[in-house]
Amino acid sequence: MLRDRGAVGILDLDLYAPDIPAMLGIAHPKWTHSWTIARAGSAVAETPVERDGLHVVSTGFLLGEDQPMGLEASTLDLLARHLIHGVAWPALDFLVVDLPAGTSALQHSLARHLTVSGAVLVLTPQRVAHLDTQKVVRLYRHLRVPVLGAVENMAYLRCPHCGNEVELFPTVDEAQSLWSMGIERLARIPFTRTDDHSSLFGALAERVASKLG
Ligand SMILES: [Zn+2]
Repeated sequence: MLRDRGAVGILDLDLYAPDIPAMLGIAHPKWTHSWTIARAGSAVAETPVERDGLHVVSTGFLLGEDQPMGLEASTLDLLARHLIHGVAWPALDFLVVDLPAGTSALQHSLARHLTVSGAVLVLTPQRVAHLDTQKVVRLYRHLRVPVLGAVENMAYLRCPHCGNEVELFPTVDEAQSLWSMGIERLARIPFTRTDDHSSLFGALAERVASKLG
């Protein structure tokens, strides 16, 4: 949906679970050459893989699909830097960065190596998800990254029989919710794909783009 508004790059910085290639149906990533992270500013820049008009870079391109990610925090930072600065990114209007859940070392790396225009949080309706995401908000405020808002995923199930919304999780007390921190709810995404899928995500893209100015 953002692609309708400009050139979009996707940086899959979820080093622990780089799922973006699989989600976009990129079966055999091209980056099979070896690379040396100790050599800062390598001569040959990586090229993003283009898929459906999206420019995609993922840790999954550097690691095999079945290769577990077991790296120290300092190496993670080098890897993140390589994927940000060692890539020949085309001119982009939006760079969407997928990060691991919670407050990992990658959030710090990202804020260190890029000026982040805004963070969009994604959470499920459970109380623990709200509590964990509140910590993420505090981290971003500490890192001076603007929080644009949050998307409530798996917010409800659309009943296939009557079309009513079915709540899958107990309602979180307002005082314990993310919304009590003044975070805007940007979208409510149902558990399964529904007929209004495109308009839901279209409205989300519109809201995010307008907040970015
Ligand atoms: Zn029903």
